[in-house]
Amino acid sequence: MFSDKEHEINSIIKQSHLKHDNITYLSIVKENLKHPIFKTVSLIAEKNCVDAYVIGGFVRDLILNRNSKDIDFVILGDAISIAQQVANKLGGLKVSIFKTFGTAMIKYRDLEFEFVGARKESYNSDSRKPIVQTGTLTEDQNRRDFTINALAIKLNKENFGELLDPFNGITDINNKIIRTPLEPNITFSDDPLRMMRAIRFATQLKFTIHDDTLQAIIDNKERIKIVSKERIADELNKIILSEKPSIGFKILEKTGLLAVIFPELHNLKGIEKRNGRAHKDNFYHTLEVLDQLAINSNDLWLRWAALLHDIAKPATKRYDPKIGWTFHSHNFVGEKMVPTIFKALKLPQNEKMKFVQKMVGLHMRPIVLSQEIVTDSAVRRLLFEAGDDIDPLMTLCEADITSKNEEKVNLFLKNFKKVRRKLKEIEQKDKIRNFQPPISGDEIIKYFSLPPSKIVGDIKAAIKEAILDGKIHNNRDEAWGYMLEYCKSIGIEKNY
Ligand code: ATP
Repeated sequence: MFSDKEHEINSIIKQSHLKHDNITYLSIVKENLKHPIFKTVSLIAEKNCVDAYVIGGFVRDLILNRNSKDIDFVILGDAISIAQQVANKLGGLKVSIFKTFGTAMIKYRDLEFEFVGARKESYNSDSRKPIVQTGTLTEDQNRRDFTINALAIKLNKENFGELLDPFNGITDINNKIIRTPLEPNITFSDDPLRMMRAIRFATQLKFTIHDDTLQAIIDNKERIKIVSKERIADELNKIILSEKPSIGFKILEKTGLLAVIFPELHNLKGIEKRNGRAHKDNFYHTLEVLDQLAINSNDLWLRWAALLHDIAKPATKRYDPKIGWTFHSHNFVGEKMVPTIFKALKLPQNEKMKFVQKMVGLHMRPIVLSQEIVTDSAVRRLLFEAGDDIDPLMTLCEADITSKNEEKVNLFLKNFKKVRRKLKEIEQKDKIRNFQPPISGDEIIKYFSLPPSKIVGDIKAAIKEAILDGKIHNNRDEAWGYMLEYCKSIGIEKNY
């Protein structure tokens, strides 16, 4: 959204503003408010004799030098009318009006402007939906969740660019602190979604949650139950998509929220020891895998797969005196758990979920393969099962190596390189990735004059197995020859 020059200005803000140099700050904020929207809102506010401010996340991100596509305006007056006039001035843009909320939204290129009247809020204990009344700017700032989200910049001609920071949000930005403007217990009890938002901002911005605020999350954790699952999932997804998602999950665990919203993940925590043998803590292992994966993939669903890859370890854990701890079939049990978890969290029940299931189910395969002599037929079978998802599967498996033993890690990664090389070679040769049977069931029925029956499926399966085992190449001629030979061996021949 900003030009190079503006980016430069933004980084100057970061340095100079952090020194609390108000004069420099004022001029730099003014520089940043050069986008035509700010002048337009300013002129129209002036014409209507109302006060207008840009507020919240946009101001925070401006100071943090983060790109922000949503710009919120607070109007001390009729916000919908101001939005309509702004939209006209910008060339007759469409305004979406939400009468019940008294808000209006304009889409302008890749930006979204939201206009709302200043408001104050009060709450009932059974709902996070506030009773809303018209308020002053201060009351509007009071209802904001965190000090860093309560910053406002005045847009009227007089004092254009003036920062209104009643809760020292700038100091908290400097000190990288998330803190509620008012008493945190009230803030979180009123709207418990704010607890998730605090943890999400701490993760995205790598900020620390202030002690009192953190304690209030611990004390109000049960209140999260009044928040819709969809809103919780939105925040979880934002945490998962952060640069280092483990930050958020560790705070969720520490505050006790995780046990309430996502018990299966919480259950991974802990180490059990028997006869001097301990297994690793699967919660922290999972977070390490997720962080490692996040370096190489921004795919939300692959990140979910990392989070869930060992989810069935508690359910499958056994102690065998001869070999120690085992988690047999945890990949398959985990695959089966995915739909239940997705349903409980109101995540999609579609091909995204199926992809996560597939990744969880297959996540052991490449690692097992890399420990053995990598045979062509094992690679062909992996390609057959993973199909087009082979690349994300390999990325997940590489992230799953979290040993502290550097030598071991290097050996695994070296073997993985071998597997990847072989995958490429075999795919070029045999085209297994999107395997289509070279001979159809219909052709088999016609050629041997068979009724449609199980035997037809068996013949097709035998051809597929022969290809995967490398007995024949994946082409029609060799498949046909093999089919004749195989059918003869089981007493089926063409009737002339
Ligand atoms: P992001 O765009 O990354 O979600 P944001 O801070 O812009 O961050 P929005 O959800 O767009 O988040 O909210 C805009 C502003 O509205 C916030 O900065 C904050 O001032 C206020 N806000 C949003 N949700 C709440 C809430 N649950 N309680 C109090 N204030 C809120």
